[in-house]
Amino acid sequence: MLTVNAYAAPSATEPLVPTTIERRDVGPHDVLIEIAYAGICHSDIHTVRGEWGEISYPQVVGHEIVGVVTEVGSEVSLHAVGDRVGVGCMVNSCRECENCLAGAENYCLNGNTGTYAAVDKDGSITQGGYSTHVVVVEDFVLKVPESIPYEAAAPLLCAGITTYSPLAHWNAGPGKKVAVVGMGGLGHMAVKIAHAMGAEVTVLSQSLSKKEDGLRLGADHYYATSDDETFEKLANTFDLIINSVSAKIDIDSYLKLLRLHGTLVSVGAPPEALEVHAFTLFDNRRSFAGSSIGSIAETQEMLDFCAEHGIAAEIELIDASQINEAYKRVLNSDVRYRFVIDVESIK
Ligand SMILES: [Zn+2]
Ligand SMILES: [Zn+2]
Repeated sequence: MLTVNAYAAPSATEPLVPTTIERRDVGPHDVLIEIAYAGICHSDIHTVRGEWGEISYPQVVGHEIVGVVTEVGSEVSLHAVGDRVGVGCMVNSCRECENCLAGAENYCLNGNTGTYAAVDKDGSITQGGYSTHVVVVEDFVLKVPESIPYEAAAPLLCAGITTYSPLAHWNAGPGKKVAVVGMGGLGHMAVKIAHAMGAEVTVLSQSLSKKEDGLRLGADHYYATSDDETFEKLANTFDLIINSVSAKIDIDSYLKLLRLHGTLVSVGAPPEALEVHAFTLFDNRRSFAGSSIGSIAETQEMLDFCAEHGIAAEIELIDASQINEAYKRVLNSDVRYRFVIDVESIK
Protein backbone atom coordinates (compact mmCIF):
# COMPACT_ATOMS: atom_id res chain seq x y z
CA MET A 1 0.00 0.00 0.00
CA LEU A 2 1.03 3.54 -0.72
CA THR A 3 -0.10 6.31 1.65
CA VAL A 4 -0.73 9.54 -0.26
CA ASN A 5 -2.00 13.05 0.44
CA ALA A 6 -5.53 13.91 -0.60
CA TYR A 7 -8.47 16.26 0.00
CA ALA A 8 -11.53 14.41 1.26
CA ALA A 9 -15.10 15.08 2.35
CA PRO A 10 -15.46 13.88 5.98
CA SER A 11 -19.27 13.89 5.70
CA ALA A 12 -22.11 15.13 3.50
CA THR A 13 -22.26 18.49 5.26
CA GLU A 14 -18.67 19.39 6.17
CA PRO A 15 -16.10 21.12 3.96
CA LEU A 16 -13.35 19.07 2.30
CA VAL A 17 -10.16 18.75 4.37
CA PRO A 18 -6.58 17.58 3.78
CA THR A 19 -5.99 13.96 4.75
CA THR A 20 -4.12 10.84 3.64
CA ILE A 21 -5.51 7.78 1.83
CA GLU A 22 -4.16 4.38 0.80
CA ARG A 23 -3.55 3.41 -2.82
CA ARG A 24 -3.22 -0.27 -3.68
CA ASP A 25 0.12 -1.79 -4.63
CA VAL A 26 0.83 -1.65 -8.36
CA GLY A 27 -0.46 -4.96 -9.77
CA PRO A 28 0.79 -6.63 -12.99
CA HIS A 29 -1.69 -4.63 -15.16
CA ASP A 30 -1.65 -1.39 -13.14
CA VAL A 31 0.04 1.95 -13.62
CA LEU A 32 0.89 4.39 -10.84
CA ILE A 33 0.16 7.98 -11.84
CA GLU A 34 1.56 11.05 -10.11
CA ILE A 35 -1.35 13.47 -10.51
CA ALA A 36 -0.57 16.99 -11.71
CA TYR A 37 -4.04 18.50 -12.15
CA ALA A 38 -7.62 17.54 -11.27
CA GLY A 39 -10.74 19.28 -12.56
CA ILE A 40 -13.78 20.05 -10.42
CA CYS A 41 -16.97 18.62 -11.92
CA HIS A 42 -20.48 19.37 -10.66
CA SER A 43 -20.83 15.60 -10.10
CA ASP A 44 -18.11 15.81 -7.44
CA ILE A 45 -20.33 18.13 -5.41
CA HIS A 46 -23.50 16.04 -5.86
CA THR A 47 -21.54 12.96 -4.78
CA VAL A 48 -19.85 14.29 -1.62
CA ARG A 49 -23.13 15.81 -0.48
CA GLY A 50 -24.90 12.47 -0.86
CA GLU A 51 -27.33 13.95 -3.39
CA TRP A 52 -26.94 11.01 -5.77
CA GLY A 53 -27.32 8.41 -3.02
CA GLU A 54 -25.60 7.55 0.25
CA ILE A 55 -21.84 7.13 0.16
CA SER A 56 -19.24 6.18 2.76
CA TYR A 57 -16.88 8.79 4.21
CA PRO A 58 -14.22 10.04 4.07
CA GLN A 59 -14.53 10.28 0.28
CA VAL A 60 -12.07 11.75 -2.21
CA VAL A 61 -13.68 12.83 -5.49
CA GLY A 62 -12.34 14.11 -8.83
CA HIS A 63 -12.65 12.35 -12.19
CA GLU A 64 -10.84 14.76 -14.48
CA ILE A 65 -7.29 13.64 -13.83
CA VAL A 66 -4.02 14.25 -15.67
CA GLY A 67 -0.55 13.26 -14.54
CA VAL A 68 2.59 11.32 -15.31
CA VAL A 69 3.18 7.58 -15.09
CA THR A 70 5.79 6.88 -12.39
CA GLU A 71 5.58 3.07 -12.16
CA VAL A 72 4.14 0.27 -14.28
CA GLY A 73 3.23 -3.33 -13.47
CA SER A 74 5.16 -6.26 -14.96
CA GLU A 75 2.52 -7.00 -17.65
CA VAL A 76 1.80 -3.40 -18.69
CA SER A 77 2.24 -2.75 -22.41
CA LEU A 78 0.15 0.35 -23.13
CA HIS A 79 1.99 2.91 -20.99
CA ALA A 80 5.53 3.61 -19.84
CA VAL A 81 7.16 5.57 -17.03
CA GLY A 82 7.19 9.26 -17.98
CA ASP A 83 4.07 9.13 -20.19
CA ARG A 84 1.60 11.96 -19.85
CA VAL A 85 -1.74 10.32 -19.13
CA GLY A 86 -5.30 10.94 -18.02
CA VAL A 87 -8.07 9.19 -16.12
CA GLY A 88 -11.75 10.05 -16.54
CA CYS A 89 -15.01 8.94 -14.95
CA MET A 90 -14.39 5.18 -14.86
CA VAL A 91 -11.49 2.94 -13.86
CA ASN A 92 -12.84 -0.48 -14.82
CA SER A 93 -15.87 -2.41 -16.08
CA CYS A 94 -17.08 -6.04 -16.11
CA ARG A 95 -15.38 -6.69 -19.50
CA GLU A 96 -17.80 -9.52 -20.37
CA CYS A 97 -21.29 -8.07 -20.90
CA GLU A 98 -22.68 -7.38 -24.36
CA ASN A 99 -21.88 -3.66 -24.13
CA CYS A 100 -18.33 -4.13 -22.82
CA LEU A 101 -17.63 -6.65 -25.59
CA ALA A 102 -18.94 -4.08 -28.09
CA GLY A 103 -16.40 -1.56 -26.78
CA ALA A 104 -18.99 0.51 -24.92
CA GLU A 105 -17.75 -0.04 -21.37
CA ASN A 106 -19.28 3.30 -20.34
CA TYR A 107 -22.61 1.50 -20.80
CA CYS A 108 -21.46 -1.67 -18.97
CA LEU A 109 -24.61 -3.64 -18.11
CA ASN A 110 -23.12 -4.58 -14.75
CA GLY A 111 -22.19 -0.97 -14.06
CA ASN A 112 -18.72 0.38 -14.83
CA THR A 113 -16.46 1.08 -11.86
CA GLY A 114 -16.61 4.82 -11.18
CA THR A 115 -13.36 6.65 -10.46
CA TYR A 116 -14.72 7.56 -7.03
CA ALA A 117 -17.39 6.38 -4.58
CA ALA A 118 -17.72 3.03 -6.37
CA VAL A 119 -16.97 -0.50 -5.18
CA ASP A 120 -13.68 -1.57 -6.76
CA LYS A 121 -12.81 -5.14 -7.83
CA ASP A 122 -11.09 -5.73 -4.46
CA GLY A 123 -14.13 -4.53 -2.52
CA SER A 124 -12.62 -1.19 -1.52
CA ILE A 125 -14.29 2.14 -2.33
CA THR A 126 -12.63 4.00 -5.20
CA GLN A 127 -11.06 7.37 -4.32
CA GLY A 128 -10.76 10.10 -6.92
CA GLY A 129 -8.29 12.63 -8.23
CA TYR A 130 -8.03 15.29 -5.49
CA SER A 131 -4.92 13.39 -4.49
CA THR A 132 -1.23 13.17 -5.32
CA HIS A 133 -1.30 9.66 -6.84
CA VAL A 134 -3.70 7.07 -8.20
CA VAL A 135 -3.30 3.44 -9.28
CA VAL A 136 -5.38 2.45 -12.33
CA VAL A 137 -5.52 -0.63 -14.54
CA GLU A 138 -3.69 0.21 -17.78
CA ASP A 139 -6.54 -0.08 -20.27
CA PHE A 140 -8.58 2.59 -18.47
CA VAL A 141 -5.72 5.10 -18.73
CA LEU A 142 -5.73 7.60 -21.62
CA LYS A 143 -2.81 9.15 -23.46
CA VAL A 144 -2.87 12.96 -23.18
CA PRO A 145 -1.22 14.50 -26.27
CA GLU A 146 1.71 16.80 -25.46
CA SER A 147 0.25 19.66 -27.50
CA ILE A 148 -2.73 20.14 -25.16
CA PRO A 149 -1.86 22.55 -22.31
CA TYR A 150 -1.48 20.28 -19.31
CA GLU A 151 -3.91 21.89 -16.85
CA ALA A 152 -6.51 22.63 -19.55
CA ALA A 153 -6.51 18.94 -20.53
CA ALA A 154 -7.99 17.73 -17.23
CA PRO A 155 -11.61 18.80 -17.88
CA LEU A 156 -11.57 17.00 -21.23
CA LEU A 157 -11.71 13.70 -19.31
CA CYS A 158 -15.32 14.38 -18.23
CA ALA A 159 -16.71 17.60 -19.72
CA GLY A 160 -14.90 16.99 -23.02
CA ILE A 161 -15.97 13.40 -23.62
CA THR A 162 -19.51 13.95 -22.31
CA THR A 163 -20.11 16.47 -25.08
CA TYR A 164 -17.85 14.96 -27.78
CA SER A 165 -19.61 11.59 -27.68
CA PRO A 166 -23.14 12.78 -28.60
CA LEU A 167 -21.77 15.31 -31.11
CA ALA A 168 -19.86 12.51 -32.86
CA HIS A 169 -22.66 9.95 -32.56
CA TRP A 170 -25.29 12.29 -34.07
CA ASN A 171 -22.87 13.48 -36.78
CA ALA A 172 -22.34 17.14 -35.94
CA GLY A 173 -20.40 18.55 -38.88
CA PRO A 174 -20.55 20.77 -41.96
CA GLY A 175 -24.12 21.58 -42.99
CA LYS A 176 -25.53 20.69 -39.55
CA LYS A 177 -27.11 23.20 -37.20
CA VAL A 178 -26.24 22.42 -33.59
CA ALA A 179 -27.61 24.21 -30.52
CA VAL A 180 -25.97 24.04 -27.09
CA VAL A 181 -28.23 24.70 -24.12
CA GLY A 182 -26.25 26.16 -21.20
CA MET A 183 -22.81 27.82 -21.25
CA GLY A 184 -21.14 26.13 -18.28
CA GLY A 185 -18.41 23.50 -17.94
CA LEU A 186 -20.09 21.09 -20.35
CA GLY A 187 -21.66 23.72 -22.58
CA HIS A 188 -18.48 25.63 -23.34
CA MET A 189 -16.78 22.38 -24.41
CA ALA A 190 -19.76 21.48 -26.59
CA VAL A 191 -19.43 24.86 -28.35
CA LYS A 192 -15.71 24.39 -29.00
CA ILE A 193 -16.03 20.79 -30.19
CA ALA A 194 -19.11 21.32 -32.38
CA HIS A 195 -17.40 24.31 -34.00
CA ALA A 196 -14.23 22.28 -34.60
CA MET A 197 -16.36 19.54 -36.20
CA GLY A 198 -17.59 22.13 -38.69
CA ALA A 199 -21.18 22.58 -37.51
CA GLU A 200 -23.05 25.88 -37.35
CA VAL A 201 -23.29 26.46 -33.59
CA THR A 202 -25.94 28.35 -31.62
CA VAL A 203 -25.81 28.89 -27.85
CA LEU A 204 -29.08 29.01 -25.94
CA SER A 205 -28.29 30.51 -22.55
CA GLN A 206 -30.48 32.04 -19.85
CA SER A 207 -29.05 35.51 -20.46
CA LEU A 208 -26.59 37.16 -22.82
CA SER A 209 -23.98 37.63 -20.06
CA LYS A 210 -21.56 35.11 -21.63
CA LYS A 211 -22.29 36.05 -25.25
CA GLU A 212 -18.83 37.46 -25.95
CA ASP A 213 -17.21 34.28 -24.63
CA GLY A 214 -19.58 32.09 -26.60
CA LEU A 215 -18.75 33.79 -29.88
CA ARG A 216 -15.02 33.75 -29.07
CA LEU A 217 -15.17 29.98 -28.36
CA GLY A 218 -16.76 29.26 -31.73
CA ALA A 219 -20.51 29.93 -31.59
CA ASP A 220 -22.06 31.52 -34.66
CA HIS A 221 -25.20 32.71 -32.85
CA TYR A 222 -26.17 33.36 -29.24
CA TYR A 223 -29.69 33.72 -27.85
CA ALA A 224 -31.18 34.31 -24.41
CA THR A 225 -33.78 31.74 -23.38
CA SER A 226 -35.31 34.27 -20.97
CA ASP A 227 -36.59 36.00 -24.12
CA ASP A 228 -39.75 34.23 -25.36
CA GLU A 229 -39.11 35.49 -28.88
CA THR A 230 -36.08 33.17 -29.05
CA PHE A 231 -38.37 30.13 -29.11
CA GLU A 232 -40.60 31.58 -31.82
CA LYS A 233 -37.70 32.69 -33.97
CA LEU A 234 -35.80 29.38 -33.77
CA ALA A 235 -38.75 26.96 -34.17
CA ASN A 236 -37.91 23.99 -36.49
CA THR A 237 -34.26 25.03 -36.86
CA PHE A 238 -31.76 22.55 -35.40
CA ASP A 239 -30.52 19.11 -36.41
CA LEU A 240 -29.09 18.50 -32.96
CA ILE A 241 -29.50 20.11 -29.56
CA ILE A 242 -27.11 19.28 -26.71
CA ASN A 243 -28.77 20.06 -23.38
CA SER A 244 -26.04 20.54 -20.75
CA VAL A 245 -28.28 22.02 -18.07
CA SER A 246 -28.54 19.94 -14.88
CA ALA A 247 -31.68 21.71 -13.66
CA LYS A 248 -35.22 20.94 -14.79
CA ILE A 249 -36.01 22.88 -17.97
CA ASP A 250 -39.12 22.84 -20.19
CA ILE A 251 -37.85 20.16 -22.59
CA ASP A 252 -40.95 20.41 -24.76
CA SER A 253 -40.25 24.00 -25.75
CA TYR A 254 -36.66 23.04 -26.71
CA LEU A 255 -37.85 20.00 -28.71
CA LYS A 256 -39.92 22.35 -30.84
CA LEU A 257 -36.68 23.95 -32.02
CA LEU A 258 -35.72 20.70 -33.81
CA ARG A 259 -36.18 20.46 -37.57
CA LEU A 260 -37.07 17.26 -39.49
CA HIS A 261 -35.44 14.18 -37.88
CA GLY A 262 -33.70 16.35 -35.31
CA THR A 263 -32.50 15.01 -31.94
CA LEU A 264 -32.28 16.63 -28.52
CA VAL A 265 -29.68 14.93 -26.31
CA SER A 266 -29.58 15.54 -22.57
CA VAL A 267 -26.17 15.26 -20.91
CA GLY A 268 -27.03 17.35 -17.84
CA ALA A 269 -28.59 15.35 -15.01
CA PRO A 270 -31.48 17.04 -13.20
CA PRO A 271 -32.81 15.00 -10.26
CA GLU A 272 -36.43 15.52 -11.39
CA ALA A 273 -38.15 13.80 -14.33
CA LEU A 274 -38.41 15.78 -17.56
CA GLU A 275 -41.85 15.95 -19.23
CA VAL A 276 -42.27 15.36 -22.94
CA HIS A 277 -45.50 15.40 -24.98
CA ALA A 278 -45.80 12.71 -27.65
CA PHE A 279 -47.20 15.21 -30.16
CA THR A 280 -44.04 17.33 -29.91
CA LEU A 281 -42.07 14.22 -30.94
CA PHE A 282 -44.51 13.36 -33.78
CA ASP A 283 -43.89 16.70 -35.47
CA ASN A 284 -40.72 16.53 -37.58
CA ARG A 285 -40.24 12.93 -36.28
CA ARG A 286 -38.11 14.34 -33.46
CA SER A 287 -36.03 12.26 -31.01
CA PHE A 288 -35.28 12.86 -27.35
CA ALA A 289 -32.11 11.05 -26.23
CA GLY A 290 -29.50 10.82 -23.50
CA SER A 291 -25.77 10.14 -23.52
CA SER A 292 -23.31 9.16 -20.79
CA ILE A 293 -19.58 10.02 -21.05
CA GLY A 294 -17.90 7.85 -23.73
CA SER A 295 -15.98 4.62 -24.13
CA ILE A 296 -12.23 4.51 -23.49
CA ALA A 297 -11.57 4.30 -27.25
CA GLU A 298 -13.84 7.26 -27.91
CA THR A 299 -12.23 9.25 -25.08
CA GLN A 300 -8.84 8.70 -26.72
CA GLU A 301 -10.35 9.75 -30.05
CA MET A 302 -11.66 12.94 -28.35
CA LEU A 303 -8.26 13.77 -26.85
CA ASP A 304 -6.58 13.30 -30.24
CA PHE A 305 -9.32 15.41 -31.90
CA CYS A 306 -8.79 18.23 -29.37
CA ALA A 307 -5.02 18.11 -29.94
CA GLU A 308 -5.49 18.20 -33.71
CA HIS A 309 -7.85 21.20 -33.50
CA GLY A 310 -5.95 23.02 -30.76
CA ILE A 311 -8.80 23.03 -28.28
CA ALA A 312 -9.01 22.44 -24.53
CA ALA A 313 -11.06 23.69 -21.59
CA GLU A 314 -11.16 27.31 -20.39
CA ILE A 315 -10.06 27.02 -16.80
CA GLU A 316 -9.44 28.80 -13.50
CA LEU A 317 -6.46 27.20 -11.76
CA ILE A 318 -6.76 26.96 -7.97
CA ASP A 319 -4.90 25.54 -4.97
CA ALA A 320 -6.51 22.73 -3.00
CA SER A 321 -7.17 25.15 -0.11
CA GLN A 322 -9.66 26.92 -2.41
CA ILE A 323 -11.77 23.81 -3.19
CA ASN A 324 -14.59 24.65 -0.78
CA GLU A 325 -14.85 28.20 -2.10
CA ALA A 326 -14.77 26.84 -5.65
CA TYR A 327 -17.69 24.51 -4.84
CA LYS A 328 -19.79 27.51 -3.78
CA ARG A 329 -18.91 29.30 -6.99
CA VAL A 330 -19.76 26.24 -9.14
CA LEU A 331 -23.18 26.10 -7.48
CA ASN A 332 -23.65 29.79 -8.34
CA SER A 333 -22.52 29.17 -11.97
CA ASP A 334 -19.70 31.60 -11.19
CA VAL A 335 -16.80 29.95 -13.04
CA ARG A 336 -15.40 30.46 -16.52
CA TYR A 337 -15.57 27.59 -17.22
CA ARG A 338 -13.95 24.89 -15.13
CA PHE A 339 -11.97 24.95 -11.89
CA VAL A 340 -8.79 22.88 -12.00
CA ILE A 341 -6.82 22.02 -8.86
CA ASP A 342 -3.06 22.36 -9.02
CA VAL A 343 -2.20 19.11 -7.26
CA GLU A 344 1.24 20.50 -6.37
CA SER A 345 -0.69 22.23 -3.56
CA ILE A 346 -1.67 18.85 -2.04
CA LYS A 347 1.89 17.44 -2.01
ZN1 LIG B 1 -17.82 14.86 -14.30
ZN1 LIG C 1 -19.78 -4.83 -18.82
